[in-house]
Amino acid sequence: MERLQDFADEINKCSKCGLCQSVCPVYKITGNDCAVSRGKFVMLDGVLKGDLKLNKNIEKYLDLCLNCGKCKNFCPSSIDVCKIFAAAKNECAKKNIQSKFIFFLESKFIFGNLLNILKSLKKIFWCKQAGMPDKTLKLLYFKGCVNEITTTTDSSLSKILKNTDIQIIEKDFDCCGTPFLSSGNLKRYEQAREHNLRQIKNTEYDYLVADCASCQDALNNYGDDIYCTNILEIIAEQKLKFVYKKPHKVTFHKPCHLQNDDFVKKLFEKCENVEYVEMKDYDECCGFAGEFVLNNFAMSRTISNKKADNAVNCGADIVLTTCPACILGLKAGLLNRKSAPKVKSLIEFLADADEIINC
Ligand code: SF4
Ligand code: SF4
Repeated sequence: MERLQDFADEINKCSKCGLCQSVCPVYKITGNDCAVSRGKFVMLDGVLKGDLKLNKNIEKYLDLCLNCGKCKNFCPSSIDVCKIFAAAKNECAKKNIQSKFIFFLESKFIFGNLLNILKSLKKIFWCKQAGMPDKTLKLLYFKGCVNEITTTTDSSLSKILKNTDIQIIEKDFDCCGTPFLSSGNLKRYEQAREHNLRQIKNTEYDYLVADCASCQDALNNYGDDIYCTNILEIIAEQKLKFVYKKPHKVTFHKPCHLQNDDFVKKLFEKCENVEYVEMKDYDECCGFAGEFVLNNFAMSRTISNKKADNAVNCGADIVLTTCPACILGLKAGLLNRKSAPKVKSLIEFLADADEIINC
């Protein structure tokens, strides 16, 4: 488990160029340098040199971060920003009762058991098709907590993949670890990472896939040569056609954690009677990010509303995305708006086609 001190050299790599300001969704609204990585690094450098105390004020600014990773992707010094913030939050948590309580809720005992109970309930009420035949392309599917306990993605996937040569392999995975990193619960993150790595390494598969962009990104940050693809990238390569009787005008929200979205346009080319329109700033954050919503509710709503304005203004009937948290952020922004577009996962939209043809 890396401590804040271990990142001293990494923090010093910050050249104070300020490029992170141009991409940080929180800085764009607050204009406050302490909200973006550059300002946070100045404070953390002060803490490491003993000039500043890791007090409530610094903790407030550490919490003022969506963990979207946009600054990390843009930083010319390639600083692993989110890992440093997680280590700093872990230090803060040692003296904070509220964080200790959150860590308790995130523990294997509470979070893990609750997830297992909900998974068991799902198995009772949702009958999966049995006896899936052996197929050529084997996908090890990391479902993510939301899909583990809901049925929409499962049924959508089985409809889409029915006549393809793709076989889905499921394993008993833990959470991908994103919420634990965001709260600074590094011990729980390591526990989840190690469990998931064991499951991945003990399985034979062609591709490791996820449909949630945050899970995909988390797995790609595990190291150990693990590479996770978005399942929609694989679907986009299949000889499939999605036919809709009613015309649809759709737009796409790119989740911050989705690195490659080339598959989106490829998929829309396979859809008959579907028009794609790009909304302004389609890759801007939706404002919904775990603890960020709880700690900075007003800020989260401001970012969600900005996103919703762009979705409404592009004139689409449906906003599509590939992350359950983004679906909540988009819905929050569109709440109580007249003639607001519907929000759906892209997988669900594809499965809603009146006909899926294997050409
Ligand atoms: S972009 Fe990177 S190097 Fe530049 S100020 Fe931000 S964190 Fe520092
Ligand atoms: S992770 Fe996102 S919200 Fe946090 S400082 Fe970087 S760009 Fe801003």
